[in-house]
Amino acid sequence: MTTPKEARRLVIIGSGPAGLTAAVYAARASLAPLLIEGLDAGGQLMLTTEVENYPGFIDGVLGPELMERMRKQAARFGTEYMTGNVTEVDLSTRPFSIATSERTILADALILATGAQAKMLSVPGERELLGHGVSTCATCDGFFFRDREILVVGGGDSALEEAIFLTKFGSKVTVVHRRDTLRASKIMQDRAFANPKLEFIWNAQAQEIVGDTTVKGLRVKDSQTGVASELAADGVFVAIGHTPNTGLFEGKLDLTEGYIDVEPNTTRTSVDGVFAAGDVVDSRYRQAITAAGMGCMAAIDAERMLSDIPLTETAW
Ligand code: NAP
Repeated sequence: MTTPKEARRLVIIGSGPAGLTAAVYAARASLAPLLIEGLDAGGQLMLTTEVENYPGFIDGVLGPELMERMRKQAARFGTEYMTGNVTEVDLSTRPFSIATSERTILADALILATGAQAKMLSVPGERELLGHGVSTCATCDGFFFRDREILVVGGGDSALEEAIFLTKFGSKVTVVHRRDTLRASKIMQDRAFANPKLEFIWNAQAQEIVGDTTVKGLRVKDSQTGVASELAADGVFVAIGHTPNTGLFEGKLDLTEGYIDVEPNTTRTSVDGVFAAGDVVDSRYRQAITAAGMGCMAAIDAERMLSDIPLTETAW
């Protein structure tokens, strides 16, 4: 069965800060963008409670409210929204083709802002207490744990970076790792071991995050002895890596460790006319504000590219 096709000047895939900021800029540049938002629209901020570091919100703002504001702002200038998961993209020729289960859309330019997901432990209590003591972002949430006891789960560079950062806030910060050697780089290990505020618990496999309305502790099992114990904590930071949402683009764009490659200081990908922004590109900063900044860059890059090419036959 063939699906009906429609053509657009610019399509944006993704509805987190990168996608929505790209939409604000593109809509104000009269590109009438179509933004395709997945069934879980809004990105990682939808899983956050208070956001205190997004400029302009003196008293902070709830993550979902921030996304709703961005969404309305982009709509005000003519962004059109479509809900549905993209099932396939064809980037081999322009116009590019983007398929969902219901429609196929052709686009002269495409902005990919599909984000990334923090890997989770998938243990009981984790989902329920996310934003209530469970966090995946020390930069975002460390401040809320001033003088509290914090556990950081993981043994890679992310875990140590987060743990070192969190020693600025916590009364006690403990890295909980499932093995007895760290995966993190030597330099990061040296830094972590030299930090007097950091402690380590080895061979501890997370079993359950304990708490009712807020986190009370982490139940672990010793991977050598099998003995179970409960570690008291006010906060559990899960820092076991991220997965960029790039499954759709494998083999179609240049990727490095799953993240989309862009030319330095631009949002141009390896395919002319395809731009990428936010956490799907950025494994380093991962902040709403940096994603928004890249979304702005992507819209400007797309607008400049589009001003150089004529409307395709398919475009409105
Ligand atoms: P990573 O290197 O893949 O490390 C993930 C860590 O989480 C590993 O120690 C792993 O344990 C542990 N882990 C994974 N699944 C787990 C589970 N289900 N339960 C408990 N523990 C689990 O990820 P990353 O630390 O996010 O780093 C990703 C990349 O970014 C790396 O290349 C890293 O060097 C880079 N990075 C660099 C910096 C920096 O240079 N400043 C900062 C952050 C990240 P095992 O060791 O047992 O597998």
